[in-house]
Amino acid sequence: MSEPDARARPGLLVVISGPSGAGKTTIARGLERRIAGSVFSVSMTTRPRTDRDREGVDYFFVDSDRFEQVRADGGFLEWADVFGRRYGTPRAWVEQQLIEGKVVILEIDVAGGKQVHERIPEMLGLLVLPPSEEALLDRLRARGRDDEDEIARRFAQAKSEMAEARACGAYDEFVVNDDLDRAIEEAVAIVRRRRG
Ligand code: ADP
Ligand code: 5GP
Repeated sequence: MSEPDARARPGLLVVISGPSGAGKTTIARGLERRIAGSVFSVSMTTRPRTDRDREGVDYFFVDSDRFEQVRADGGFLEWADVFGRRYGTPRAWVEQQLIEGKVVILEIDVAGGKQVHERIPEMLGLLVLPPSEEALLDRLRARGRDDEDEIARRFAQAKSEMAEARACGAYDEFVVNDDLDRAIEEAVAIVRRRRG
């Protein structure tokens, strides 16, 4: 599919990825608050809604049939299967925001970031990293949700996702989330620099 010329999209597309628990969502929402003219892209997902999720704010929650219909119609800029659930970025909405000159923030996984990079190479790829592998492991344990086998599996997956992100060429900025306020400041500075 041919993509519109970059000059037709005066906005900036910011893709934020990183391992689970690294602080992507917190930093993405921090950017949205701090950058004038920025908007957070609300993905469609087949994962069940939890008590903390707000429909239409965090995600659009849909069943598999609806997701497949949108996918078949070419409605996603990218989509991916994450832990057995599907997630997709609405294509037309993102394109429209970029045409209007907005900073569009996508908080998506590395597989999705690679797809976006192929279609929109001028995107800004921002990888959020934990301060250390040790800290990541501690955070996974602190959630108290998984047994040690599952924690080991998620830890290994997080490490391979970070390695993939570094190698794939889609991510050119790396933000270590040690202190949250500092990390948000750094992300804001990166976006402002790129926006010019
Ligand atoms: P992700 O979206 O990468 O899974 P979240 O943004 O949901 O991560 O953050 C996971 C949890 O860690 C949240 O409870 C958040 O408030 C907390 N958190 C984020 N950044 C920091 C930080 N620098 N120090 C301590 N806790 C943090
Ligand atoms: P959660 O269900 O915990 O909110 O998100 C799980 C994972 O899915 C996170 O890594 C998040 O970045 C990723 N994700 C959320 N929305 C999308 C999307 O639209 N596309 C892709 N590729 N990944 C997404």
